[in-house]
Amino acid sequence: MEKFADIIINIHSLRVEHPFTYIVPEQMDEIVVGCRVLVPFGSRKVEGFCVRLHNQKPSTSNSLKAIVKVLDEQPLLTPELIALSTWAAHYYLCRQVDFLAAMVPAKGRPGIGLRAKKVKVANLREEGYTAQPRGKKQELALRLLRQNKSLTLSRLVQVGVSAATVNSLAKKGWVEISEQIIRRDPLADMTADKEEPVILTDEQKKSLASINNDVLKKPFLLFGVTGSGKTEIYLQAIAKRLAQGEASIVLVPEIALTPQMTERFVSRFGERVAVLHSRLSAGERYDEWCRVANGEALVVIGARSAVFAPVQKLGLIILDEEHESTYKQEERPHYHARDIALWRAKWHAATVILGSATPSLESFRHAECGDYTLLHLPERIANRPLPPVEIVDMRQELKDGHKSIFSRTLIAALQETLKQRQQAILFLNRRGYATFVLCRECGHVMRCPACNVSLKYHLSSTKLRCHYCDYTAEYPNTCPACSGRYIRHFGTGTQKVEAELRKQFPDIRVVRIDADTTGKKGQHQKILNRFKRQEADVMVGTQMIAKGLDFPNVTLVGVITADTALNLPDLRAGERTFQLLTQVAGRAGRGSLAGKVVVQTYTPEHYAIMTAKNHDFEAFYAQESKLRSELGYPPFSFLIRLLVSGDNERQVVNACSYLVSVLADSVDVLGPSPCPIEKVRGRYRWQILVRGEKLDTIRQAVKAAAADFLQSPLAGSVRLTLDVEPQNLL
Ligand code: ADP
Ligand code: ZN
Repeated sequence: MEKFADIIINIHSLRVEHPFTYIVPEQMDEIVVGCRVLVPFGSRKVEGFCVRLHNQKPSTSNSLKAIVKVLDEQPLLTPELIALSTWAAHYYLCRQVDFLAAMVPAKGRPGIGLRAKKVKVANLREEGYTAQPRGKKQELALRLLRQNKSLTLSRLVQVGVSAATVNSLAKKGWVEISEQIIRRDPLADMTADKEEPVILTDEQKKSLASINNDVLKKPFLLFGVTGSGKTEIYLQAIAKRLAQGEASIVLVPEIALTPQMTERFVSRFGERVAVLHSRLSAGERYDEWCRVANGEALVVIGARSAVFAPVQKLGLIILDEEHESTYKQEERPHYHARDIALWRAKWHAATVILGSATPSLESFRHAECGDYTLLHLPERIANRPLPPVEIVDMRQELKDGHKSIFSRTLIAALQETLKQRQQAILFLNRRGYATFVLCRECGHVMRCPACNVSLKYHLSSTKLRCHYCDYTAEYPNTCPACSGRYIRHFGTGTQKVEAELRKQFPDIRVVRIDADTTGKKGQHQKILNRFKRQEADVMVGTQMIAKGLDFPNVTLVGVITADTALNLPDLRAGERTFQLLTQVAGRAGRGSLAGKVVVQTYTPEHYAIMTAKNHDFEAFYAQESKLRSELGYPPFSFLIRLLVSGDNERQVVNACSYLVSVLADSVDVLGPSPCPIEKVRGRYRWQILVRGEKLDTIRQAVKAAAADFLQSPLAGSVRLTLDVEPQNLL
């Protein structure tokens, strides 16, 4: 009987989403659902994913073409992952093929699939011992093989034995040439000593017992301060699954995926650990991926995309630092690893642990409503104290005539640290692209009366503007709150901090970590290593340095301006500030030395800062959720962002107006307004936010509007990007 395959074509420009049917040639036995294939498409040959095999000849079958070849050595997608891609495409208003492409371990070279690395090996055969070799080269080869039993051909070539020599030995039957698979092992250099599980504290025991006795199959929210022993619970929960032959996936934010973190898992589970993240080579990724797919590795540690790891029997998924915005993919396809994890857990009847010291408002709200089970670890292990956080009021500094970007408190603390030969980290939130206007006398910030987000200052127009609803205001001459004259736009960069530091402390040794200094591969780690070896006294950096790092000699952490985080034009600015302050505070006093945190701000009375000072998430949550609920923001509503970009601003604006006009009246529309980052690589960016209480309702409205828009002539000149439940509105 004739066989057919339904193939989803992997070309982005293609608007159609349905699979195309192809003929499976008779000898093509290796084809299975989930493999990638090469197929003729129009005048080209393109890659596609086989999503179904069947015998139903389509009615329009006269033009059917045949599959050219199967690309990869083994299928890259399981039926589960194909089903997941269908769901995710619907949920995120993305194309299914983008998900399929995101799920495969790496791109092969065009038209060539992914395969294991094989090398040719020469093995000595028994009878080779007696016969007489001819020539020096043959002698050498045999002598080496007697010593080593088998050697790779490339090794033999290195020592001067040519491939031809080996081949002639093989012809004589003295040597056998075979192929051997070489594992490209990203952890080859890691030497982790075997480590045994520790005895859990009573609090940890309680949490682990709930996790191991997961009958409700509700996600667990493991809410525990840094150092409260969450990772130890993960390890022991994974061990339980391992004993049952089930796999676990552990997701960590990319930046936290440090060798120390991986080492902890390897020292517990050894060879059964696989890592998946973006810094692996394509070959390493493929080999790790195969070990997962074959069930050899049952513990997968990775960044966001590892949520698609092809495990067969999934017992547990963990999202560490579940609040991190990096779990949301900002490029196509937009997805949140948490949603994907929850979907997969349901499919496998697996357990989910969301861990954090500062849970996202969304997750804590779910716990409050009883959708998630809350597990709380309020204390650090061994009652180690959390570092004291000192808040410095920068308004007072100004009043006292002290205008430096370093307060007197911070200078004194730095001096003390240097004297003790200890180290400090000075921390700045992002670079200053989101310029807001702040009164340095009273701390007042210009905000949108309707949306509550800070207004952005535009150098070009000298106006202030809201990036949610497009409200505009004049640049004030005096502060509307206190009539002070020191009201102006604000923003300090890491370079400026470094320069000031050198001015204040001429002998100081400084390293700087930001997007500028870490562009090159490996540069980031180099700088960190220098700091770790104590070749620098101070590290200055952006939020890159806020998490995951562990420097025992760091006893001082300074936050130059909490205000830059607090006043991002983003509904989550308060939440991000609380998270950042909590995280940076966690960097101080990790070792046996006591730590101290100094936070400089113009609004010390802001609840995000007050509650972070007291390490009090619950108080923060209470205030923040009240505000969100009043303003109708998530988690009390759902948002979808429509981002329109193009070379011509007029066309972008017209496209936005059209979209707004075709969006159903039943949904709540904010904007259009320019994005806080108005232009990227020459393209103007505008956004529309659609808000509603039911995600399904707004999704349908946006889907319909987008479909209408794509039919319109405007669609040719601009790009429309949909982001369901956006995490980033810059
Ligand atoms: P978290 O993941 O919450 O930051 P960790 O699991 O890393 O916390 O624990 C913090 C430190 O305490 C680690 O050094 C860990 O080895 C240690 N630790 C964890 N649990 C225990 C325990 N029950 N007894 C002793 N030490 C522990
Ligand atoms: Zn507004």
